Amino acid sequence: MRKKIVAGNWKMNNDLAETEALLQELKKQVIPEQVSVFVAPAYTNLQHAFESLRDHPIAVAAQNMHQSDHGAFTGEVSAAMLTSVGVKTVILGHSERRAYFAEDNALLAEKVNTALQHEMTVIFCIGETLQERKEGNYFEVVTKQLEESVFHISEKDWPHIVLAYEPVWAIGTGETASPQQAQEMHEKIRSIVASTYTESIADSVSILYGGSVKPENATEIFGQPDVDGGLIGGASLNAQSFMEIVNAFV
Ligand code: PEP
Repeated sequence: MRKKIVAGNWKMNNDLAETEALLQELKKQVIPEQVSVFVAPAYTNLQHAFESLRDHPIAVAAQNMHQSDHGAFTGEVSAAMLTSVGVKTVILGHSERRAYFAEDNALLAEKVNTALQHEMTVIFCIGETLQERKEGNYFEVVTKQLEESVFHISEKDWPHIVLAYEPVWAIGTGETASPQQAQEMHEKIRSIVASTYTESIADSVSILYGGSVKPENATEIFGQPDVDGGLIGGASLNAQSFMEIVNAFV
């Protein structure tokens, strides 16, 4: 059985006090055993979040990291720095990193390698823009992202990879891919993992959907056979809506 995962990407929201307030709300909730839940606060609050959640099933992820282990990279944070404060999971390839910080497939391949070298789990985001969707070449776009950033890894590294299909046109826009559109892409992604690696790797990798998931649409999206959970932006900033999404599996 594939792992069910719901991860909240808090982006550049919540200072320390707000982080703690949201964590306190989340810690009051019962996390269903069959769902792995992550929250990804800003760098400054990762250590606090890790300590605050120490005896709690919710795990902490980072939203990004640098590909180098150390050096003159002003403003950046390394994998070793993340693991030293307890963070073992990192989101890479988010469309906002690709669009606003010029992160391309080659750079993301380096980041994937570094994260794996540090035995971190990677939530790797892929997805097409609105124009690419309209042009009808969205399968090719996502395939290329995988080929150039992920498909060089060895079979043994796949247990450390989670994929997140996030159509860029659905992120923070209130527009959601229909459950059928999500399923069609997730099935495609699983089939290219199978043809590049093995059926068993494809069967085991969790593929999350991200893009305006809300309590109202989570059940139907998560009900698709190849959708194993969600990467949640806006709705993860409120404990109640995030938990309703987590409980959409139950
Ligand atoms: C995201 O940023 O990964 C995301 C899916 O955001 P939202 O849920 O707000 O669309």
